Amino acid sequence: MSHEINKIAIVGAGPVGLLVAILISRLGIPVDLVDVGEGVDMRPRGAAYGPSAVRVLRRAGVLDQIRANGIELNHFCWRKVSGEWITGLKDCFDETYTDRFAILPVDKLSMLLYENLKKYPTAKVYWEHNFTGLTQDAEQVTISTEHKGQTKTFTADFLVACDGGRSGVRRALFGRRFPGHTWEHQIVATNVRVETTMMEKYGWSDIFWMIDPEYWCVVAKIEASPDVWRVSYGEPGHLDEKELRARCAGKLAKILPGDPQPGDYELERFSPFKLQQRCAEKMTVGRVTLAGDAAHICNPIGGYGLTSGIADIGSLVDCFQGIHEGRASINILNKYDQSRREKYYTVTDALSTANLKRLFLPGDDALMLDPGLQQIAEAARNPVTAKAYFQASDNLSVDMTQFWDIKPIQENGTTAIHA
Ligand SMILES: Cc1cc2nc3c(=O)[nH]c(=O)nc-3n(C[C@H](O)[C@H](O)[C@H](O)COP(=O)(O)OP(=O)(O)OC[C@H]3O[C@@H](n4cnc5c(N)ncnc54)[C@H](O)[C@@H]3O)c2cc1C
Repeated sequence: MSHEINKIAIVGAGPVGLLVAILISRLGIPVDLVDVGEGVDMRPRGAAYGPSAVRVLRRAGVLDQIRANGIELNHFCWRKVSGEWITGLKDCFDETYTDRFAILPVDKLSMLLYENLKKYPTAKVYWEHNFTGLTQDAEQVTISTEHKGQTKTFTADFLVACDGGRSGVRRALFGRRFPGHTWEHQIVATNVRVETTMMEKYGWSDIFWMIDPEYWCVVAKIEASPDVWRVSYGEPGHLDEKELRARCAGKLAKILPGDPQPGDYELERFSPFKLQQRCAEKMTVGRVTLAGDAAHICNPIGGYGLTSGIADIGSLVDCFQGIHEGRASINILNKYDQSRREKYYTVTDALSTANLKRLFLPGDDALMLDPGLQQIAEAARNPVTAKAYFQASDNLSVDMTQFWDIKPIQENGTTAIHA
């Protein structure tokens, strides 16, 4: 019996959907990728991806392009609202650490992935196709989409849902259930273009977090010369977009150095997001798998959102490779579910929660109150320990080839596959 996968369908051409499409195409499996949008989503969101994501981006053959188009991280720190440095690490860039953070805004990352995906003739992308429902049996999955008023269906051996935090596929499987909680704060993500000298004058680092109950934020340089900074700051959850826009200039004046007023910078993008910690009750149901924000969401402090989604993809592609090559049974997708949810709760949820709560502390007392900051202050005393700390480790990958459960055996000089 042939184990080969004939086709995989993907819902959602965000960064996770595009990346899994590339990796599946590299296995020689055709993909159909559908997305409700007219093209790549350009809203400002993620920009920094940790070592677990970097490994998967390398496997997809896109890491060098990302590094060439992005910027390198050399410093990071925590500050008080006055701008005063609390602690941080300086001059830690090390080209020889090949798993170091990759920095490229998510919209640019998605465009780059989309361009790469076009190289695979067996990958087809269908924009303006709104997922509306699914059915599955022991052999295949069929999804329905709505395209310009017409219903269009796609049938495949497996479905990967990468349709983001409001996933329709997840709702088709579990209704409105998405266990977790919503924070009482929201975050406003802005792109602010400033003269390079404005930040250099104040010696600001590539990325910093401001610790303050009112003005907590994360600020990261995402483009150089002229500089574009991603300033993502907290606001009370009940404010609507009009109220948020009215407060934006005041927030930026307090957060950015030198009390800049709207004429001193260009506000290129402005997007409010709810802050939530949630994980689907299962990431596999039969032949349907969830990945990225469709499966789990977290607050963005520390950059665990997309990094976790990309790590899902590394594990999932191991599973598809095993099935396609006759080395793993479909049961491996249940292992995918278990191991990825475990990573969500033990790493993604735990660390992103600690990272956010740290920012709510009073800046004057943060170092005294927070053991995480104390560890950084300790590491910063010595350039060797500082560099080691800076080189965050891969804490989200799971190598699923360890669960391949069909062993190849030699028969008459040829390789056969047996359970
Ligand atoms: C302010 C902010 C900063 C962040 N910073 C970081 C960071 O530094 N590092 C990091 O790792 N993460 C970060 N994140 C998180 C990161 O942006 C997300 O985890 C990531 O974008 C999720 O990617 P995705 O592909 O899973 O989903 P999405 O990017 O949401 O893509 C989902 C796709 O599915 C499509 N879709 C939705 N519904 C349908 C439907 N019914 N039919 C067809 N298609 C559909 C959408 O059009 C979209 O293209 C940040 C998030 C925010 C809000």
